Amino acid sequence: MSQKVEKLIDKKGLRLDGRKPDELRPIKIEVGVLANADGSAYIQQGKNKILAAVYGPRELHPKHLALPDRTVLRCRYHMAPFSVQERKSPAPSRREIELSKVIREALEPSLFLEYYPRTAIDVFIEVLQADGGTRCASITAASLALADAGIPMRDLVVACAAGKVDDTIVLDLMDTEDKKGNADVPVALMPNLNAITLLQMDGNLSLEEFEKAVNLAIDGCKKIYAMQKEALRAKYVNIKEVEE
Ligand code: ADP
Repeated sequence: MSQKVEKLIDKKGLRLDGRKPDELRPIKIEVGVLANADGSAYIQQGKNKILAAVYGPRELHPKHLALPDRTVLRCRYHMAPFSVQERKSPAPSRREIELSKVIREALEPSLFLEYYPRTAIDVFIEVLQADGGTRCASITAASLALADAGIPMRDLVVACAAGKVDDTIVLDLMDTEDKKGNADVPVALMPNLNAITLLQMDGNLSLEEFEKAVNLAIDGCKKIYAMQKEALRAKYVNIKEVEE
């Protein structure tokens, strides 16, 4: 049975949403959006809408999970039932459990875990609307929520994916490109330390293409990092204006 193959890159070299291969989706970031969490952030990246909330460092329950020499970072990545076209079961899926783990591992190197023994830092990520690349946008928002909670950090963590669609290396894949494309490479970066904290690959790339995709993702991370800093600054400018 023959299937119609949809072109992901048109004759002008533009993508389904009109972007150039090396272009990010429009991004909006806000810090300190939730009154009841210690720290919070909201990100819109294309059609993705994601909230991150942080509590802690705080007493850890059950107590036997506490560590004598460091805090325990706990992450929960969750997609709301209405975040995708078919209702998603609210129960944690295998994918959400895996993403919670990779997000935690991407954030951990940025924190001084040894500063807060016998405590926990909890990061809750709620994907309100998903359109590809949610693990990366979640890391970008969660790192800001940690900073907003006043937790000392070595660096912010910022994440972005690159990949291959229709034989072209592209930045920041949306859902259709992720599903119908050839490969997806999510990267998380601590920009000042120049250290990568997450590197995954789904699909097939030659070594040359892989290097090109990683470098493109790093360039994307650096652009988003500028927006992260701006969002943090904006919160404190607002507070100052309210006080004056
Ligand atoms: P990421 O969001 O980090 O790219 P995946 O590659 O696993 O992670 O998922 C790609 C996209 O697939 C998601 O962003 C989302 O738009 C979509 N998706 C994930 N889970 C579901 C689901 N249960 N139902 C419908 N779409 C989903």
